[in-house]
Amino acid sequence: MALSSDSVFDTFRHTGAFLNGHFRLSSGLHSPQYLQCALVLAHPQHAESMGRALAEALGVQPDVVVSPAMGGLIIGHEVARALGVRHIFTERDAERKMAFRRGFGVEAGQKAVVIEDVITTGGSSVEVIKLLRSAGVEVLAAGSIIDRSGGRADLGVPRVALATLDAVAYDPAECPLCGQGIPVVKPGSRPA
Ligand code: ZN
Repeated sequence: MALSSDSVFDTFRHTGAFLNGHFRLSSGLHSPQYLQCALVLAHPQHAESMGRALAEALGVQPDVVVSPAMGGLIIGHEVARALGVRHIFTERDAERKMAFRRGFGVEAGQKAVVIEDVITTGGSSVEVIKLLRSAGVEVLAAGSIIDRSGGRADLGVPRVALATLDAVAYDPAECPLCGQGIPVVKPGSRPA
């Protein structure tokens, strides 16, 4: 079943995942808003329904769903469940490059979709797309629960999101919240 953007944001609010404050995003930008997808995906029924809706919105049938860890793990798994295919994920290696570990791999000629929880600049998904293409895999599309680029992120493949947020994001040098001396919080899981 399709999920409206409003119902997706409602779910974020109900689960306490729609945060207001002063946050450093994984892209390095600062923002007064943060969507903590992990708090939504902690509820298996929300993860499942969002995965199903995302699979439907993608409108393609890949051989494999690929996500960058950590953010893409749960939603990627649920999209793969809905599509009836395998889900694998990438991690950064010692040189901070996206790589397949744990015995994960793909075969040339396979078709993939790339799934993340939130796209801000799309940088992580772009890295996964490059990795897949270098292995001879065709990337059919990319998807995320939330697009916080206001629709502007260009991954070079068709892209869908369940909800789009035109969120304010500042370069740290120009951040008015920093200017007011408000401490910045790193809400994600990666070390700052
Ligand atoms: Zn700031």
